[in-house]
Amino acid sequence: MAKLFDNKVFQDPEAARQWLEGRLWPNGPVCGHCGVQDEARALASRPGTYQCNACRKQFTVTVGTVFERSHIPLNKWLLATFLFVSSKKGISAHQIHRLLDITYKSAWFMMHRLREAMAPGGTLGQLGGEGKFVEADATYIGGKEKNKHVSKRDPKKIGGVGKLQVHTLVERGGRARSQHVASVRGETLAPILFKNIDPKSALMTDTAGGYLHAGKRFARHEMVDHGANEYVRGDAHSNTVEGYFSILKRGIIGTYHHVSEAHLQRYLNEFDFRHSHRAKLGVSDELRAERALQGIVGKRLTYRQTNKAANA
Ligand SMILES: [Zn+2]
Repeated sequence: MAKLFDNKVFQDPEAARQWLEGRLWPNGPVCGHCGVQDEARALASRPGTYQCNACRKQFTVTVGTVFERSHIPLNKWLLATFLFVSSKKGISAHQIHRLLDITYKSAWFMMHRLREAMAPGGTLGQLGGEGKFVEADATYIGGKEKNKHVSKRDPKKIGGVGKLQVHTLVERGGRARSQHVASVRGETLAPILFKNIDPKSALMTDTAGGYLHAGKRFARHEMVDHGANEYVRGDAHSNTVEGYFSILKRGIIGTYHHVSEAHLQRYLNEFDFRHSHRAKLGVSDELRAERALQGIVGKRLTYRQTNKAANA
């Protein structure tokens, strides 16, 4: 960690700006107004400011992004991003507040902006494919510990009050996609499965009724009967998604303590992002941070629209 803090990129806003430019503009500056690439000239009088030859406007690498309007210096944004994407179970706003010497409020704001950046974009492909396995399962997040052994089919029966239901798809050796769901009935699960999983995949689930009908649409569907104490049958199991849930729960309980229903999906996006860009897939901490930062810059229009909508 010491090595990380010593890096100039995390010490100096100017070094941070140059690093970000190098990462986000590998083929020359891209105008944040008209999108034209490598048609701009750097203004000698104002480092980091470029004049676009196409639209004549001036821009910086952070124009239109949350970085531009933030009073938090860019080097601290980069450090927060690195800490966030390299902490397997997440990192609390309190920790960021202490480590970066910024207010708790600023830390909280940064974390949520970073989670937005991690949210999947519109061009997501389907998980799985021919010869590939996708595991699907549901779990409960939050609520009291004594109620944790709750029936999936009927949460009210054993007292799943205050618990939020999460449904996750995990590609073996690949990405994860999680959603907060109101139920695990077929009518809720079927559209999620059809939209997110390539029909040529092998689908692996437990024997929950919500999968029975929808499972027929996939090349193969194996159900493991946890109720009968069956967990692995040949290549049929849901160990990968169980492992995902274990990290998610340890993160939500250990790092975030409590997650409200309103924010749950953002936290799921955060854990999905780290899983989908994990070291096992050959993604380094640095590359993972880059992907998150690309999300911030890529979402500049969305962010503007959100602000406009909020002010309307
Ligand atoms: Zn332009």
